Amino acid sequence: MLLEGIESGKRKSHTVKLASDLVIVGGGMAGTCAAITAAREGLTVTLVQDRPVLGGNASSEIRLWILGATSHMGNNNRWAREGGVIDELMVENMYRNPEGNPVILDTILIEKVALEQNIKLLLNTSVYDLEKKGTDQIDFINAFCSQNSTEYILSAPLFMDASGDGIVGFLSGAAFRMGAESKEEFDELFAPDEKYGELLGHSLYFYSKDTGKPVRFVTPSFANKELSKLPRFKTFNLREDGCRLWWVEYGGRTDTILNSEDIKWELWRIIYGIWDHVKNSGEYQDVENLTLEWVGTIPGKRESRRFEGDYIMHQKDVVEQREHFDAVSFGGWALDLHPADGVYSDKAGCTQWHAKGVYQIPYRSMYSRNIKNLFLGGRLISASHVAFGSTRVMATCAHNAQVIAMAAKLCKQKNLLPYQLADIDQIKDLQALLLQAGHYIPKIALNLENNLIKDAEIEVSSEFELKSLPFDGPWKSLEFSMAQLFPITNGEQLSVTLMLKCKQETNLKLELRKSQKSGNFSLDELVEKQEIKVKTGEHKYQIDFDFVCEASQYVALCLIQNDVLEVKCSSARMTGVLSIFNKFNKSVATSSVQSPPDGIGIEEFDFWVPERRPNGHNLAFELGKSLKGFGKGNMANGIFRPTHQTNAWVASQKDLNPEVRISWSSTTLIKEIKLFFDTDYDHPMETTLMGHPESEIPFCIKAYRIRNENGKLLYAQEANHQTINIISFESTIPVKEIILELEHPSASVPAALFGIICS
Ligand SMILES: Cc1cc2nc3c(=O)[nH]c(=O)nc-3n(C[C@H](O)[C@H](O)[C@H](O)COP(=O)(O)OP(=O)(O)OC[C@H]3O[C@@H](n4cnc5c(N)ncnc54)[C@H](O)[C@@H]3O)c2cc1C
Repeated sequence: MLLEGIESGKRKSHTVKLASDLVIVGGGMAGTCAAITAAREGLTVTLVQDRPVLGGNASSEIRLWILGATSHMGNNNRWAREGGVIDELMVENMYRNPEGNPVILDTILIEKVALEQNIKLLLNTSVYDLEKKGTDQIDFINAFCSQNSTEYILSAPLFMDASGDGIVGFLSGAAFRMGAESKEEFDELFAPDEKYGELLGHSLYFYSKDTGKPVRFVTPSFANKELSKLPRFKTFNLREDGCRLWWVEYGGRTDTILNSEDIKWELWRIIYGIWDHVKNSGEYQDVENLTLEWVGTIPGKRESRRFEGDYIMHQKDVVEQREHFDAVSFGGWALDLHPADGVYSDKAGCTQWHAKGVYQIPYRSMYSRNIKNLFLGGRLISASHVAFGSTRVMATCAHNAQVIAMAAKLCKQKNLLPYQLADIDQIKDLQALLLQAGHYIPKIALNLENNLIKDAEIEVSSEFELKSLPFDGPWKSLEFSMAQLFPITNGEQLSVTLMLKCKQETNLKLELRKSQKSGNFSLDELVEKQEIKVKTGEHKYQIDFDFVCEASQYVALCLIQNDVLEVKCSSARMTGVLSIFNKFNKSVATSSVQSPPDGIGIEEFDFWVPERRPNGHNLAFELGKSLKGFGKGNMANGIFRPTHQTNAWVASQKDLNPEVRISWSSTTLIKEIKLFFDTDYDHPMETTLMGHPESEIPFCIKAYRIRNENGKLLYAQEANHQTINIISFESTIPVKEIILELEHPSASVPAALFGIICS
């Protein structure tokens, strides 16, 4: 028994001191991915999260889907899902949770963190104070857990603030901004004026549920009964199930940190007002059985402080896809600003302008310019209000966070502070570490320096050649222009035979298009035009193009919209080959052409977007000469997704035993083999709300075996669904040869591999 008498002074909380290599404050997607990455790289990490689960805005407390450069497949960023740990989490989520249940995502995040021995996770623990050493470094931070009544003193040489509002940056005196820059500061013509507003507000979501029997709703007294004053009130759409009303936004005219609780009350008032209207106004049919299943209690915060690093990203970095010597990550969401009046504004809920392709993010935007041991994570990174409109989405935040974790590793290894890595040679080391972990940096390839395959000979049992895709799929009406992307290598030419169907004679316009910038899929360069006469009935047509390709690139055969025509598609799907359509996704665009008003510094271009499976068939076609961009050399080119070319070795479908044989001239010691499979980086894998028709990606190899030169089995896998497989041996093994026996993912999809790293 514990018996304590009267204490005339005051008692002190139970206190625990913890020291680690890196303290991460905030367990949103940024903090979580940084923690996992750093722990796997051998750093000891303390991850402090003030709430009971991880994921921040993606958690079951708030329920936003994680998105990034794929932009719901609604812009021209092909194969743009983020790589590394965030990819692993999203692939795992789709595998376990194709229905998009946010509670399942919670379990995945908690599980992945709990599996890392190097992470000390403090949930329900809020950081509230800190001490500095000198003027420009943090010594330790103070946090308190109300659940175990414990005060924590957390020290480390390096800190990462991933708290959303930037508690650590603020308390430590780091330079920050809140609100929008003037147009002049960074020559940002899209910078909003005072009238539009300078800050994005908070939102709350809610879920409804059909109980199968009538349910009444007695409205709480605080609900807003004057909903008709909301300008968007008339467009309220019940089919959204009450959960996708992201535009129920408020707070952008006030301090989104200090007044956060008041903002939440206003959002509650609006949401319960909406529900009162739905249930009790009599204006809606079929709502008797509906109940409110869940209403958010913690508002989703969009914007507050943005901290200053050695570089502040701005509009032109995004729109012009500017390149940086210290590129370490990328973004691809639109410049997405919202009117500060939110739900009370008569303007559109958001204004989104996309760049023509993905853009690089520089390392210098990821640490504080004056607090020398502080990294800036998540939405805190150094960006103007306009650029932040794009960098703020969670997959981008998570991808950037992986950079911070790797940078922390290098800082520890080399005894450097974060800013000291912003040097051309140090950055190369950082880029290499990242790329090896599956991270993607546009225009940067991993060199073979630390890859033992550089000294090996690679043989494959077959190489796929794209000669035809069978005429066995559905007919597709050309109500929208459709394009087939062909990966073309130097010197190749296109002669394509298609099958067309029409009820009346017509002319079909065809265009061969490519993209001005290598790696883009904007199709903004017309290469050649043709027009063919199409007879009634079903017929095949051969179209020969003069264009000779001078570099490896994707070229699109565009079939221009024609209401009376249908084109035959194929059921065949394969790595790096895709069809796209000149239409738009209303979640992220308003028309199939991005048409910005003059003078806002945004480019006009067409959207060419894919359709999601089970749709999105390739065209059926025969080619005069086969395309050869699927060779074994792709496995060693240091790019692990399609960019300007497929970057994948693909086996022939006829090859019943696809095999990669890696041979060294003398015995080589191997500790680890890393394989990069195709989990379709074009798939956005939205984590919640939205279901997916598949839980595994059809291109991903499930089963494979690894043998040595004597046929001895070194490893076997029967049920893979992940992008990267790491096969670590307990100790180094001597081999002269490694034979990788692969099975095709299915009868209609050939086996493909983006890369192999042996170390
Ligand atoms: C309504 C809405 C819709 C959006 N739509 C999308 C979308 O569709 N897709 C998308 O990807 N992004 C979307 N965003 C943007 C995105 O959610 C945020 O920009 C993103 O969550 C920022 O990530 P973060 O890790 O910096 O912050 P958060 O996700 O907010 O995570 C920060 C974490 O830090 C914790 N924390 C805060 N203070 C402390 C403290 N003192 N001590 C310890 N822990 C602390 C918080 O509890 C939180 O878990 C949307 C945002 C909103 C609000």
